[in-house]
Amino acid sequence: MKKVLVIGCGGVASVAIAKICQNSAVFSEMCIASRTLSKCEAMKAKWQPTTSTQISTAKIDANSKQEVVSLMKKFQPDVLLHVGMPYHNLVLMEACVECKVHYIDTAAYEPEDTQEPIWREKYEKRCKEKGFVAYFDYADQWSYFDKFKNAGVTALLGGGFDPGVTNVFVAYAKKHYFDNIEYVDILDCNGGDHGYPFATNFNTEINLREVSSPADYYENGKWIGVPAMSIKREYDFPEIGKKDMYLLHHEEIESLTKNYPEIKRMRFYMTFGQSYLTHMKCLENVGLLNSTPVKFGEHEIIPIQFLKSLMPDPSTLGERTVGKTNIGCIFTGTKNGEKKTIYIYNVCDHQEAYKEVGSQAISYTTGVPAMISAALLATEKWKGKGVFNLEEFDPDPFMDMLNEFGLPWKVVENPVMVD
Ligand code: NDP
Repeated sequence: MKKVLVIGCGGVASVAIAKICQNSAVFSEMCIASRTLSKCEAMKAKWQPTTSTQISTAKIDANSKQEVVSLMKKFQPDVLLHVGMPYHNLVLMEACVECKVHYIDTAAYEPEDTQEPIWREKYEKRCKEKGFVAYFDYADQWSYFDKFKNAGVTALLGGGFDPGVTNVFVAYAKKHYFDNIEYVDILDCNGGDHGYPFATNFNTEINLREVSSPADYYENGKWIGVPAMSIKREYDFPEIGKKDMYLLHHEEIESLTKNYPEIKRMRFYMTFGQSYLTHMKCLENVGLLNSTPVKFGEHEIIPIQFLKSLMPDPSTLGERTVGKTNIGCIFTGTKNGEKKTIYIYNVCDHQEAYKEVGSQAISYTTGVPAMISAALLATEKWKGKGVFNLEEFDPDPFMDMLNEFGLPWKVVENPVMVD
């Protein structure tokens, strides 16, 4: 019987917490720790009557290693599931090394202020060396490999849907369908409608930073950088229909092309409606997407955090969001010398997710795999000392648990390709 410490209590955390409660066979105890204690207590009140998992709560500042270490010394978790902000990944990894606790997150580390001089200097050097344009990558977290190895515990990076399930789809395709994978397109379609002219379906700050940043893809051993939203395609998504999608940088490309050097080209596309893009561009043009503090009267404010405070909280979108998501990967490669193409994807219905756990499908598709990742590490079905991405472990138990915990997937042969 295992103990999990959940950091954060927002949209993704609410689903991960609900799913941990559905998996009491693995998780006998859970502590929900976040910045706002009242949210943790509300979660406990909602789920405790439904589960034999014993739930406790704590107020924590994830910026403070000392606070996290002292909570872990008290609660003694087997695994820390970080579903808060990616700004805190390194502090939480340090704390896990010190307490010898397994670590999982769902987004690569990024600094809160991308103009901060020490980080900026390191980043620009890395960009030159790697031909990289994105401001978030795995380098800082991968550098913890020896610390985790020496502590005898595992850090599992990117355990949501994308990154996360998409990484496992690649491992599964390689294990069961291909001798050699050559091309991968990851397609993330949200066909849902929340009725607002502009809202984001996960953390507003992280979402807008990601989408407005320069994009890139990987081809023949190199990163190809392009301006944000400059590559657009239309795709007819199963169970959703035709949508415009745009090329973005996404962190799983970095780990997957490292772990599968045979891949010649990998791209990531996400769908956006015109209203979202127009609002984002306008807000960017007036400086509201900046993460560098500015003076406003007597106060210093961070424009993107101010903007976030005005926008709908993504965790409240569940009730009003209708439609489906379709997230998956299209593969081209060879098997027994023959060319082959397959599409592995999951379709998730926003209203079905809301009926089950009270959340929209973006939180659902992230929270379910986050719980699965935590369960596989806690039970040592996935075992390794060091820092890993999900494609480095056996995909089969993970794929089975997706079916069991609400994210069934399909494999389709000869799909329509993205040009
Ligand atoms: P939310 O904003 O809903 O939740 C973030 C939570 O972190 C909030 O509860 C917030 O507290 C808490 N938090 C913020 N700062 C601190 C702090 N200093 N100390 C303690 N807690 C803090 O975000 P989401 O749930 O939408 O997203 C969570 C993570 O999941 C993000 O990193 C996001 O990038 C990632 N994600 C990954 C996806 C994937 O497929 N891999 C897809 C979608 C999201 P408070 O409640 O007080 O604001």
